[in-house]
Amino acid sequence: MRAFDYRAPTTLTEVLALLAQAKGEVRPLVGGTDLIPQLREGRKRPALVLDLKRIPDLGRLEYDPDMGLRIGAAVTCSAVAAHPQVRRHYAALAQAAALVGSRAIQNRASIGGNICNASPSADTVPPLLCLSARAFVAGGRGQREVELERFFQGPGKTILAKDELLVEVVVPPPAKRSASCYLRFTPRAEMDIAVAGVAALIVLDGGRQCQEARLALAAVAPRPLRVPTAEAALKGRALDAQALEEAGELAAQAAQPITDIRGGAEYRRRLVRVLTRQALEQCLAALQAGQR
Ligand SMILES: Cc1cc2nc3c(=O)[nH]c(=O)nc-3n(C[C@H](O)[C@H](O)[C@H](O)COP(=O)(O)OP(=O)(O)OC[C@H]3O[C@@H](n4cnc5c(N)ncnc54)[C@H](O)[C@@H]3O)c2cc1C
Repeated sequence: MRAFDYRAPTTLTEVLALLAQAKGEVRPLVGGTDLIPQLREGRKRPALVLDLKRIPDLGRLEYDPDMGLRIGAAVTCSAVAAHPQVRRHYAALAQAAALVGSRAIQNRASIGGNICNASPSADTVPPLLCLSARAFVAGGRGQREVELERFFQGPGKTILAKDELLVEVVVPPPAKRSASCYLRFTPRAEMDIAVAGVAALIVLDGGRQCQEARLALAAVAPRPLRVPTAEAALKGRALDAQALEEAGELAAQAAQPITDIRGGAEYRRRLVRVLTRQALEQCLAALQAGQR
């Protein structure tokens, strides 16, 4: 591992000053579950590692029925998975956070790190895309707000400038009669990375008619992918078996998978088809059970 400076500031102002003054590459650190292996293997060679864990604002996790959910960039997957209001109102996100690595990993791994690492297989991102999350970013030129969907540019690449960091993610309040779900396929039950993942969100009218649908995929494209074709096909329709099957087919068509050591491209498309249908079925089941 190449030597680097390490700082652990306690305020956001201090972080921004350090980012602005830095000569070489700076890497924020939260849980280090992605970053430390990357440093060890020489895949990242920053001059400065900035530990964000001592900044109280970044550790905030708050739910308000009018404002929605605010997740500070250093909030852990464990905190999100265990939060009663997240489990109740944003089920897909709680499910995804509980799938990351293992209990030990979830206790260190942050939602912000999962986002900023920008892996196409990041589990918490597709649910956040379905839930219309927005990212709040701070840097030398002030603060800016972006739809999370626009945050990713490719594997390991985000819109963050060198002097910027992710501060928090905000998710709007859930719509009435809505439900969400995240499913992924991994050969092992734990400590594995998605071969494919699907998040679904549906909003129903008084019956089984779909007012809005959102679908997002993991591990089948260079970045997390929404599926507007399938969403449009579901909107305004009764969510019967045929509608769900068609949505699965459209999602499979939208996927841009590669073949790698974890699965072939065609296999991944099939997974997307099946997981999409199952995720939609689970949303319907949650609504029927009165969970939302
Ligand atoms: C054994 C193991 C199993 C895993 N299993 C899964 C899994 O099942 N699903 C999954 O999605 N991931 C998995 N991961 C990956 C990892 O745990 C997650 O991506 C995790 O959420 C990263 O969070 P972190 O706090 O550890 O990030 P860190 O490693 O601290 O940071 C990750 C990257 O984001 C940058 N960064 C962090 N915070 C900010 C910020 N606020 N602003 C700007 N940049 C920032 C860092 O500089 C770094 O480049 C696994 C990792 C391991 C080691």
